[in-house]
Amino acid sequence: MQNQQTTHPNRFGVITVFLVLTFFSIGDLLEVISYFAPVVASPLFPFLHESHDLLALIVALYAAHKFSPAVGWGALAWFVVLHIPYAYIVFPNSLPELFRLAVLTAAAIIGVRIIAIRSRLERQLGELASDMEIQRAAAFQRADELTILNGIAIVGVEADNVDTLIENAAQILNNALHPDYFAIGMVEESSDMLRVYNSTLTANRERLILPLGKGVTGQVIATGKSRRVPDVRLEPDYLAVNPEVLSELCVPLKVSGNVIGFINIESKHLDAFSESDEYLMTTFAGQLVNAIEKVRLFQIAQRHAQEAETLRQIGAVVTSTLNQDEAIERILVQLERVVPYYSASVQLLGEGYSEIVGGRGWPDPAIVLGVRFPIPGDNPNTVVIQQRKPLILGDAGSVYAAFREESHAAHIRSFLGMPLIIGDQVIGMLTVDHTQSNYFTQDHVRLVSAFADQVALAIQNARLFGEVQQLASTDGLTGLHNRRHFMEQADLEFERARRHQRPLAAVMLDIDHFKQVNDTYGHAVGDQVLQIVSARCRETVREIDILGRYGGEEFVVLLLETDLEGARILAERLRQCVVEPRISTDGGMMKITVSLGVGILDKECPDLDHLLQRADQALYKSKQDGRNRVSIWQE
Ligand code: GH3
Ligand code: MG
Ligand code: MG
Repeated sequence: MQNQQTTHPNRFGVITVFLVLTFFSIGDLLEVISYFAPVVASPLFPFLHESHDLLALIVALYAAHKFSPAVGWGALAWFVVLHIPYAYIVFPNSLPELFRLAVLTAAAIIGVRIIAIRSRLERQLGELASDMEIQRAAAFQRADELTILNGIAIVGVEADNVDTLIENAAQILNNALHPDYFAIGMVEESSDMLRVYNSTLTANRERLILPLGKGVTGQVIATGKSRRVPDVRLEPDYLAVNPEVLSELCVPLKVSGNVIGFINIESKHLDAFSESDEYLMTTFAGQLVNAIEKVRLFQIAQRHAQEAETLRQIGAVVTSTLNQDEAIERILVQLERVVPYYSASVQLLGEGYSEIVGGRGWPDPAIVLGVRFPIPGDNPNTVVIQQRKPLILGDAGSVYAAFREESHAAHIRSFLGMPLIIGDQVIGMLTVDHTQSNYFTQDHVRLVSAFADQVALAIQNARLFGEVQQLASTDGLTGLHNRRHFMEQADLEFERARRHQRPLAAVMLDIDHFKQVNDTYGHAVGDQVLQIVSARCRETVREIDILGRYGGEEFVVLLLETDLEGARILAERLRQCVVEPRISTDGGMMKITVSLGVGILDKECPDLDHLLQRADQALYKSKQDGRNRVSIWQE
């Protein structure tokens, strides 16, 4: 397509050639110029006279060379047409003259032919060179394309999240294509916005968030068709973000018909992008979308695997941990792996309030544990508990004043509350919060809901276990420790006191003539007496002392950190608390007395049984000495 000037000789040159040939041919040069005496007189004249036809043929050769073989052939034909008949007329009998002309003409024909061949070869060479140039450029472009496609394939394999993938792909496209401005945008699923990954090195690299549906990119997203804008100034929809931009090419990123984003390149020049650029960008877009989809699927699979594993683990926690606090702690640790949070709390519903009983993430748990929220009240807890549904707050402070308080405002923006339900009963709620606003999604709700079920189960298990334990360790009539449980607890304390050489005392208490109460008023009244006596004893001993029902109407107290005198005083108080005030039963008011025996730990006391025997022996002495009294064990 290049080197075309030889096929278009300039018209003035060609005309000149033909005039010169005409001049040389018509009216035999000799006669024409013989009119000019000075010329005839010149020493050059004989040479000119003899060689004018030679000169004419040289002109033809020159024309062939200078302009084109066609002009050369034309000039030669013109010379023959004009000159040979004339020569024949002038020299009809001059054979040498005609022979000379014929030789000259033949030489000229060969010359023009050689020039024609040379010129054809030159032209072919030129065409070959330009073909090669085109192929070379195409090969370079193809290599660029392959580099980009390969690069995108590699980042697709390497990236484990969409953000990194897009940032790396943007870098590759930018490096390979060097557009003036360049961007990849992704539609944000949750908020009808566009997240723009700006890769133009001159502009700031912060991510831009644009409203969806505006500008050329908005059209591309809405229609799913690419747009080439040769002059943005003529484009009514153009959103002028950068005044230097004059033309733009935008192609959509599409997954099975859905537009998930775009690639946009912009130029400072008018009409900078061709149809082939558009085709190329569309190919890149397809490749990039494949990589994005692959990473997304990988992420989803990975997340599901992690969720399943996490739920499996908390299932194990729930079945293995019967301690409520420990179970809550472990469940919330697992929850954080799949739903990152600033803090999480477990609340249990009481009469008119919801109380924080466990949680994670607070700088000082002591301040938070035990906090109660009124139900009903102006709080999200009320909504969750009353509606029995999850509640998401994108910006909690804008809805509830409590979240604007200094203690919250700094770190709680998003809030997610989930009711804890056992059977059909709401027993409390699970909350998670986050420092970012609009953080929690429906996906989080699904996960937190699964965890809430596990928390509810753990709480129920712990409660049931607690109840069973309570039943197993408590005396049904009096609510005191039963004998077995008393012995377990007392054993631990006995060992501790002995090891650390701390004072320890035991008091045995037996109701006097209890058989008579039963015999006189019946067994039920006897039971009432037992309940009242045990309640009075419980009120009298200290919190740390261990009180149990030892046998039928016999009770035992282990007094921690108590010496003989302290134990004697307490035993005396126990005696008095039973005698006064009188005991009111269904059988009437009664005076009940008790006998007590005190034993203390010393070096000769090897075990708990021994200590209790000492107290029992002292009790026996009280009975013998007339009852309603306290005796101290003595060797
Ligand atoms: P003492 O002053 O010597 O201790 O005389 P006592 O009558 O209290 O002694 P005894 O050991 O002879 O009688 C204890 C009675 O306590 C016998 C038993 O029927 C009664 N008893 C034991 N357990 C219960 C109980 O759970 N309920 C009732 N109502 N009576 C019980
Ligand atoms: Mg008795
Ligand atoms: Mg007894």
